[in-house]
Amino acid sequence: MTEEQAGEAATAPVRPATARGSRNDHTRRHNLSALIRAVHYGGPLTRAQLTRETGLNRSTIGGLVAELAALDLVAEDAAAETGGVGRPSLIVRPRREVVALALHPDVDAIELGAVAIDGTVLARRRASVDAPPTPRDALAFAWEAAREIADELPGSRVVGIGAAVPGLVAIDGDTIVDAPHLGWRSFALATALTDALELPATVGNDANMGLRAEWSYGAARGVDSVVYLNGSASGIGGAALVGGRMLRGGRGYGGEFGHMMIRSDGDVCSCGRTGCLETELNAPRLDAVAHDAAELDALAGTLATAIANLECAFDPDLVLLGGYLGALYDARRDLVTARARELAFRPEADDIVVARAALGGNRLLIGAAERAFAPLLSDPAGVELRPLA
Ligand SMILES: [Zn+2]
Repeated sequence: MTEEQAGEAATAPVRPATARGSRNDHTRRHNLSALIRAVHYGGPLTRAQLTRETGLNRSTIGGLVAELAALDLVAEDAAAETGGVGRPSLIVRPRREVVALALHPDVDAIELGAVAIDGTVLARRRASVDAPPTPRDALAFAWEAAREIADELPGSRVVGIGAAVPGLVAIDGDTIVDAPHLGWRSFALATALTDALELPATVGNDANMGLRAEWSYGAARGVDSVVYLNGSASGIGGAALVGGRMLRGGRGYGGEFGHMMIRSDGDVCSCGRTGCLETELNAPRLDAVAHDAAELDALAGTLATAIANLECAFDPDLVLLGGYLGALYDARRDLVTARARELAFRPEADDIVVARAALGGNRLLIGAAERAFAPLLSDPAGVELRPLA
C-alpha cells in the first residue's frame, strides 16, 4: 500500500444497510475501520464516546467492539465515566501488543523502533555511524535490532515495517530513486526489507512521514492544510497537506521545499543548483552564528522569506517547523512571524500561524509506523498480524 493520504480519519461510518450479503459485509468492514481509527487517533474511549464519534448506535458499537476484541486489536476495561450518571461505561482501548516497526536510516545514524497502535514508541535501537550507511548496513541493522526488540516486547504482534528515508521515493512506496545525502540511488528498499524481515514493508520520504506523524498525534492534529519544513543533518525536508491529502505531485517528488531558490547569487547546493533554502539556512551555518544576534536575525529573515513563498503557493492554515528550523523559530519567533506576514502576498495575512513541531525525536518513527498501520486501519479484519520474532 502506497497511500500518502493523511486524512483517513475523516472516513465517515456507514449505518448498517438493510440489504444482505456483500453489502452488509462492506458496511461491517467500513464500520470496523471507523472504530479502530477512532481509538488509534483518539486513544481509549468509552462506548458512549465512540457512539458520539461515529454516529453509530450503541448495539452496533457493541458488536463491532466485540469483533475488534476477538481480533485482539482492542481490549475493554470497566471504568467509571466521569460526570456520567448510571452504569459505569466500558472503556475501549487499542492493544499496545499490536505494533509496527519503523526504520530511519540517516547520514549520522540508523534507528529502528516499535510503535504501538496508539502511537506510543515502545522500544528503539539506534546506531551512530561515522559515514552514511549503505542499504546493506541499514538492512543488517534492521534485522539485528528487530530481534532485540522482539525480546524486549514478548507477545507483540506486528503489522509490518515502514521506513522514512531522506530522499526521493517512487510513488510505488518501494524504490528510493535518489537519496543524495545517503548516496542511495534506485534501490528497492521495501522489497529488500520484506525479504530480510519477512514482513510487509513500505518506504516514504522522511518529511512526508514527519508531517503525517504531526497530523496524527502532534502539533498539526486535525489541521488539513499544513506546510511543513524540517531541518536535519540531511538538509531541509518539506511536505504539505492540501485539503487533508499529502502533496505528492505527478511522480511523488512534490514538496522538496529545501531546494526552492532563496538567493539567485547564493552558494552552490549539493543538488548542483544555486541558492537553495537548505544551502542558505543549514545547521553548520546556524551553529556558526549562534552568538551573533545580527546574523541570527538574518537567518530568521531567510526562514521568513521561505515561509512567505510557501504562503503564496499553499495558503496553509499552519506552517509547521521541525529540527533546527524549529529551534531557530523558537529563538526568533516574533521576527519570523512578523516578517512572514509582511512579505506575504495575500491581504490580511496577520493570521499566518507558524508553530514548532511537537513530536521531537519520535516523529519519524511514528510517521513511518503510521504508514505501516494504514492497511490494518482500512481493513482491521483483513490484515494478518505476525508474532514479532
Ligand atoms: Zn538544492
